[in-house]
Amino acid sequence: MRILIVGAGISGLAAARGFQAAGHRVTVLERAERLRAGGGAITLWPNGVTVLRDLGVDLAGLGATLSAVGLLSARGRPVLTVPGEDLEARLGAPALGVARTDLLARLFEGLPEGTVRFGERFARYVQHGRTVRVETESGTVHDADLLIGADGAWSRVRAAAFGANVPKATGVATVQGLIPSKVELDGRSLMLMGREGDAGFGPAGDGRVWFFFDVPWPPDGPAGRPLELLRRRFGGWAWPVRDLLAELTEDDVQVFPNHRHAIPRHWGRGRCLLIGDAMHVMPPFFAQGTNQALEDVSALLRLLARGEEQLKHYGPLRRRRARLAASLATNGRFVKEPLSLVQSEPVLRLMAATSDSSATAAVTTILRTTSNRLP
Ligand SMILES: Cc1cc2nc3c(=O)[nH]c(=O)nc-3n(C[C@H](O)[C@H](O)[C@H](O)COP(=O)(O)OP(=O)(O)OC[C@H]3O[C@@H](n4cnc5c(N)ncnc54)[C@H](O)[C@@H]3O)c2cc1C
Repeated sequence: MRILIVGAGISGLAAARGFQAAGHRVTVLERAERLRAGGGAITLWPNGVTVLRDLGVDLAGLGATLSAVGLLSARGRPVLTVPGEDLEARLGAPALGVARTDLLARLFEGLPEGTVRFGERFARYVQHGRTVRVETESGTVHDADLLIGADGAWSRVRAAAFGANVPKATGVATVQGLIPSKVELDGRSLMLMGREGDAGFGPAGDGRVWFFFDVPWPPDGPAGRPLELLRRRFGGWAWPVRDLLAELTEDDVQVFPNHRHAIPRHWGRGRCLLIGDAMHVMPPFFAQGTNQALEDVSALLRLLARGEEQLKHYGPLRRRRARLAASLATNGRFVKEPLSLVQSEPVLRLMAATSDSSATAAVTTILRTTSNRLP
């Protein structure tokens, strides 16, 4: 089959790897002149790692294996701990902290030269019978048997298929970064929660630490510079917040306003299908964006392996789980008023009675419920 993918982000490159390994002729169109590196880091949960293994991606030395995932109170009190090896024992793969740029490079490395055509911006497509004809802004034309829209939150492929594409701002931004840091996390990814909201930290390999703070974000952004805002809002929090805020400069901090799509019933039209953020952009909380994108790729590959006609099951297969992940990513955060009970120190103290095995069971259930790939 001739498969044309629009977008060389994580979902587009992962799909290209999978389709190519399955013997299809794959071309990827990317509007940028080179891979769009950048962004912070991503937690690859065991489902994402399993899909990457299925795709034959070399994971050796990629990022950092998480020794544990923990929740602390703003005062630094340990609340919940999920040991990394227990999660791996239950789900068959570890969780990793990985710089987005490193994952993108690893996916790209495995593709034959010329697969990705840079500087090619999708403009429109028409379907004639079983053939999709795509035209780019510069006027080049590509014919394919299947078109995959992997062009991110503001997908033009989605707009072309459905007539409109308007991701909605959630009123929250993730203020984040990835820096070489002296903060010693012992391989743990930690989230802290308190009256001011939530924040997270984790290792990304090579001595780098990623961090995020969720903050309310009005349409024009709040007054002041992002780091000033973080220091004002979270300055009283315990380690590692205090230590990290002391290390940061304004240049280390990026603002990532959160958006969310309404996830429709249909995940494509005719011979055009959508994957990743093009289909379901969601806040980065709980790292669902990339893991759900990899789930889409895995589902498509498994269906196509059973025959082209099976692709009609793609939307029904993925929709419920992706909606659940989007809801978790949007509502699991503690940023906006009114304050919730779990943001108070006494309730967090009570929650600290939860055993590691119960915490691991809860996270395992969440990951299984949002995955089509995990056993
Ligand atoms: C530069 C960048 C930084 C990011 N940083 C973070 C981060 O720090 N934290 C986080 O949680 N998520 C981040 N994300 C989003 C994260 O990568 C996605 O949620 C997830 O990996 C799913 O990605 P995707 O491949 O579906 O979409 P994306 O990663 O958005 O990739 C879409 C690709 O399509 C290309 N494209 C768009 N329109 C066209 C067109 N008309 N023609 C051709 N190509 C087109 C884009 O240039 C891009 O390369 C970032 C995305 C980008 C592009």
